[in-house]
Amino acid sequence: MIDPFTYVGLPARVVFGPGRRRELPAEVERLGAKRALVISTPEQRGDAEMAAGLLNGRAAGIHDKAVMHTPMETVHEARRVAEELDADCYVTVGGGTAIGLGKGIALESEKPVLAVPTTYAGSEMTTIQGFTEGGVKTTKLDPRMLPRTVIYDPELTVSLPPSYSGPSGMNAIAHAVEALYGEHANPVTSLIAEEGIRALGIGLPKVCAEPGDLDGRTHALYGSWLCGIALGAGGMALHHKLCHVVGGSFGLAHAPTHTVILPHAMAYNAPAAEAAMARVCRALGAANAPRAVYDLIGAIGAPVALKDIGMPEDGLDRAADLAVRNPYYNPRAITRDGIRNLLDDAFHGRRPAA
Ligand code: NAD
Repeated sequence: MIDPFTYVGLPARVVFGPGRRRELPAEVERLGAKRALVISTPEQRGDAEMAAGLLNGRAAGIHDKAVMHTPMETVHEARRVAEELDADCYVTVGGGTAIGLGKGIALESEKPVLAVPTTYAGSEMTTIQGFTEGGVKTTKLDPRMLPRTVIYDPELTVSLPPSYSGPSGMNAIAHAVEALYGEHANPVTSLIAEEGIRALGIGLPKVCAEPGDLDGRTHALYGSWLCGIALGAGGMALHHKLCHVVGGSFGLAHAPTHTVILPHAMAYNAPAAEAAMARVCRALGAANAPRAVYDLIGAIGAPVALKDIGMPEDGLDRAADLAVRNPYYNPRAITRDGIRNLLDDAFHGRRPAA
């Protein structure tokens, strides 16, 4: 049976393949821009310089001040720098942090953003972004934040260490899993999500074993693109809510938190999301979806327990209280006891029950 659905495709131009970063000047020209401001974190200054070098006469300058959680002050500062340098477009080079700053500027100006992602987070495919102001995080949803062009060059991800590649890829898989059972799930997004999980299931073990494996990098980046589309179109549910609560309230790192929580959020939702779990099984060639995801995490050497990524055990009750407050849409009813048990399993890193 095909249930009624609404599908919204987001209008980004995607240029994918090893070496295609070299097409950056042509892509900037295609946007009708002449002076691009290159944006990165301080850690990726080298990659930003590479991009500015490729742009040659079309580079207005480099702004390497992107930081986690996208404080609004950094958005205002970047915009001021862009005005001083007379920039007419922004090129973000990096993961969700660099893209977040680009999205912030896009909200405040009419100038286009071109993203060159170097992680698997998928933010470049969504119209959503969290910002912090005065210590308070607010999430904005606005189509102006979508990068107009995205260049995916797997060669740029070779430098992402296995300790980050694995969790970053699991962050992508989490987007796809929740899109499969999210409020806006539909046949098109589900196809995309399943293929994204399949590609990451091939790519992640390769890149975590051998970071320079270009075939693995290509699969992983292709999968992360698809999972980013799924996130942008399918929506978020219990898993993302838990990650936002646990990560935000206890200061845990973004990608490792997604990695640890995912199999447990899936186990919780499995009884109410059979079709979604069947797709995950098919994508990973497995019989039990939460277990297959848990085993993939183990196989790539990523963390499986909240206790190993900085979560205090005496914070679990507070996390459960916060998680049941203003819950996101979820296929299965959310109960305080159910969430507390889920968090206990995630804290200790237990393999989900068969
Ligand atoms: P990140 O962008 O914070 O990158 C982590 C670190 O790795 C940074 O220092 C970065 O410079 C470095 N790095 C990135 N790519 C590298 C590479 N190829 N080689 C070497 N170093 C590299 O990490 P992330 O996981 O991509 O992004 C996390 C942030 O993105 C979070 O704040 C999260 O909330 C946000 N996010 C937003 C969305 C959305 O749709 N708005 C989606 C996913 C994530």
